[in-house]
Amino acid sequence: MLRHMSLMVILLLLLPALRAEEKDFILVIDAGHGGKDPGARGSLINEKVINLSVALKLGNLISENHDNIKVIYTRKTDRFIGLDERANIANRSKADLFISIHANAIEKARHISGTETFILGLASSDENLEVAKRENSAILLEENYQQKYENFDPNSSESYIIFGFMQNGHMEQSIQFASEIQKSFKGAKRNDRGVKQAGLLVLRKTGMPGVLIELGFITNGEEERYMKSVDGQNKLAKAIYEAFRVYIHKYYVKQNAATDSSKTPSKKNETKAETTRKPSAAASSAPETTSPAAEPSKKAVIYKIQILTSKKKLPANSRQFKGYKNVGFYEENGLYKYTYGESSDLASIKATCKKIQKDFKDAFIIAFKDGKKMK
Ligand SMILES: [Zn+2]
Repeated sequence: MLRHMSLMVILLLLLPALRAEEKDFILVIDAGHGGKDPGARGSLINEKVINLSVALKLGNLISENHDNIKVIYTRKTDRFIGLDERANIANRSKADLFISIHANAIEKARHISGTETFILGLASSDENLEVAKRENSAILLEENYQQKYENFDPNSSESYIIFGFMQNGHMEQSIQFASEIQKSFKGAKRNDRGVKQAGLLVLRKTGMPGVLIELGFITNGEEERYMKSVDGQNKLAKAIYEAFRVYIHKYYVKQNAATDSSKTPSKKNETKAETTRKPSAAASSAPETTSPAAEPSKKAVIYKIQILTSKKKLPANSRQFKGYKNVGFYEENGLYKYTYGESSDLASIKATCKKIQKDFKDAFIIAFKDGKKMK
């Protein structure tokens, strides 16, 4: 009996911890190269060191600001990992997005500087092909690389022809994310060399939207110093983070919403969605690190009951609503959060919450002020 009791206590103590592990969005951050593979060599620093540093800074920014996003790194230390294993990590963890971080090099033209973001495809210029060759040649350091990569020769232009025939279902989202990254780099005063395509092996094997970022040219003295500096690394990580935030708010949800709403075209539903979306749009444009709700305001607080969260937009007649009508929603961190009821009277909303907890046992009350969700 006592043993059963203590087991129960342990289980109860574990429950919140297990719950906290349930994340809604999984991001894999891949710091290029590592270990015996230094990547491009600079005169002050090697590429692998810059990549890892920016990758960890990016991951920290995301983890600090988003409770529901799980960040997985392909490496957190200076170690060697094969390109296919990097993709496997992302595939195994069922990631929603893959970001590979690299630094560029061009020995012949050391004056060249700037950022580029690659998506998978056939290189449209020799310059882009050279990037793919350099990044893919990391496989030459892997054991049995001929077998693993089906005799793909990273240095032969012919082996890249296959990328012209490849279909990638995640192309659109990858382009959208890549464009946001370049926009953000430009905003951070980096030279924007644009979104490009190339036959990058690490992107070929990943089954989700993905990009490969070239932070800058290690062969350019000024840019190398910038990428080596803590300040430079912080700014680069911040720029990618800002683009990531835009992506999950603007595109990640919308993609899913577009597929879902096409199944249930309902005008009434649409107008409702628009009105409920407005406050969340305002909330999402404010940086999450600040707390606008703490500011004094004469406007009333509106209480709602959150009943469930979904990655995808649910149709109005979804079974998940258990027959409840007039379910509203707001978007947060790339998720649809469904609410029931709306009142400025906390007592009445508390009573409603208690009632519906028999159907939605995890229902809880949230508050909005000036259209922004309060902490
Ligand atoms: Zn690289």
